[in-house]
Amino acid sequence: MKKFEVPNIYRSQLISGIKAKRKEQDKLKKDFSPTLLDLGPVQFYLARHFGFCYGVENAIEIAFKTIEENKGKRIFLLSEMIHNPQVNATLIERGVQFLQDTYGKQLIPFDEIRSDDVVIIPAFGTTLDIEEMLNAKGIATEKYNTTCPFVEKVWNRSEQIAGKGYSIVVHGKPKHEETRATFSHASSHTPTVIVNDMKETIELGKYITGEKPAEQFYEEFKGLYSNGFDITKDLERFGVVNQTTQLASDTQAIAEYLKALVMKHYNLNAQNISERFADTRDTLCYATNDNQTAITGLLETDADIAVIVGGYNSSNTTHLVELCEEKLPTYFINSTDKILSSTEIMHFNFHDKKEYITKDFFPAKRPVKILISSGASCPDSLVEAVMDKLAVTCNAADAFQQLKESYK
Ligand code: SF4
Repeated sequence: MKKFEVPNIYRSQLISGIKAKRKEQDKLKKDFSPTLLDLGPVQFYLARHFGFCYGVENAIEIAFKTIEENKGKRIFLLSEMIHNPQVNATLIERGVQFLQDTYGKQLIPFDEIRSDDVVIIPAFGTTLDIEEMLNAKGIATEKYNTTCPFVEKVWNRSEQIAGKGYSIVVHGKPKHEETRATFSHASSHTPTVIVNDMKETIELGKYITGEKPAEQFYEEFKGLYSNGFDITKDLERFGVVNQTTQLASDTQAIAEYLKALVMKHYNLNAQNISERFADTRDTLCYATNDNQTAITGLLETDADIAVIVGGYNSSNTTHLVELCEEKLPTYFINSTDKILSSTEIMHFNFHDKKEYITKDFFPAKRPVKILISSGASCPDSLVEAVMDKLAVTCNAADAFQQLKESYK
């Protein structure tokens, strides 16, 4: 895979060394068991795959090069380039301004953009409307475009299905930048509707079977369907694509549910289902797949707690947390500051989107066994710093330093 120039502040010699060693031992990526780092009173189970993915490294390389090459110019990012607070803060420190927040709320009016400005498109891509608006202002959007190729792959897949006369159901978070971008691209080719989860999918299914009156659809799915969408005919033939960072099992369940429903409703079988349901292998990216599968490997251990590091608005990180918390106490943190003391941790609850402080988060027993992973937009240097702080907390500071030395 291509190597990117990513600032050293985001790298960790220790983690790069561990990852390189695992890669060397398992070139075909068949082993998803974690790496055990035994520091005496604390044992870390480090996920087989975590941290910066291809798309994030690509975006960081382009953004930092853009800053270097455009000194004296105003540089804007359409929104957060990736969902990581440290990376976004560094970009702001270097003078980059964000035009919108992550949910599309305008921070700086588009009217203020001039043709001599630089506008970077984030890794999630953007909508065709915004792209056209920027082009009309004389901004060369393709020059500083960090859209991940795996997101573009979903757009291409949607276009391909649309070309064969299928509509599109997008499984994604409606407000997420990537889902908005994918919706925009898909709906420029074919009728498109977004479902957030299985609950919404079941309701959508009721319009396919006629169980619910068509008129109700437009209220129930308000803001989630493309212009001119006709529920009485636009879901007679469709395929499902997803936001690349969704939970693999969720997308699979949604696609299987709709496929079974279509099969029953139209009295089809495995041979002729493709008449009405496009065979879209799920469109999750490789990093989401690897990181989620690596969590399965982590959960096979006898760990006591899990610490997952990443941005609170990061979809792929949230799904790692979701998988872990089904099995053990899981703490979702975005910086080392959240480890408040040897007994207290402040962590994010993605269900109600609030931070909580948990006392006595470490079990009294020793060694304490901790699962460690991070999202695809989280720097390894931050994961190392979190492990360092946890090691100090467990009186294993020296052992952690020795471990780091061994990877120099
Ligand atoms: S998580 Fe996947 S789709 Fe998203 S930026 Fe990374 S590689 Fe691209």
